[in-house]
Amino acid sequence: MTSTSGPSHSTNEPLAAEEARSLSEEQWRQRLSPEAFHILRQAGTERPFTGEYWDTEETGVYSCRACGQELFASTTKFDARCGWPSFYAPTDNERVTYVEDSSLGMTRVEVRCANCDSHLGHVFAGEGFDTPTDLRYCINSLSLNLTKSQD
Ligand SMILES: [Zn+2]
Repeated sequence: MTSTSGPSHSTNEPLAAEEARSLSEEQWRQRLSPEAFHILRQAGTERPFTGEYWDTEETGVYSCRACGQELFASTTKFDARCGWPSFYAPTDNERVTYVEDSSLGMTRVEVRCANCDSHLGHVFAGEGFDTPTDLRYCINSLSLNLTKSQD
């Protein structure tokens, strides 16, 4: 592991995957707000229609709130009226991982950040939305950080 003596990472600077994956839960707890820690590291779900981004129409890029990796572009965000930010595709399929989730008595597919393995939300297929993929990435606002476009 290379060690540098530079200033420590600000929260907006992307974390390298190996650094992100070496953090203990206690270190995550220190980096994140209690609400974001609960969602990202304990697979919590924010209440619908309460998050920062569920009805945001600003253009820009949504990054992982835990590690800063870019995850979704505002151009793939659509109004699913479900109370959470919804996207039809990640900016790159390599940036997310999928885990079968059988909690709450149903089988869903959990979406995680491929870089830091934090919980983002769930993905649902075949709901009939008029989008290119017929997928709905239902993501917690607290898992995301929007960087607005300059123009
Ligand atoms: Zn991440």
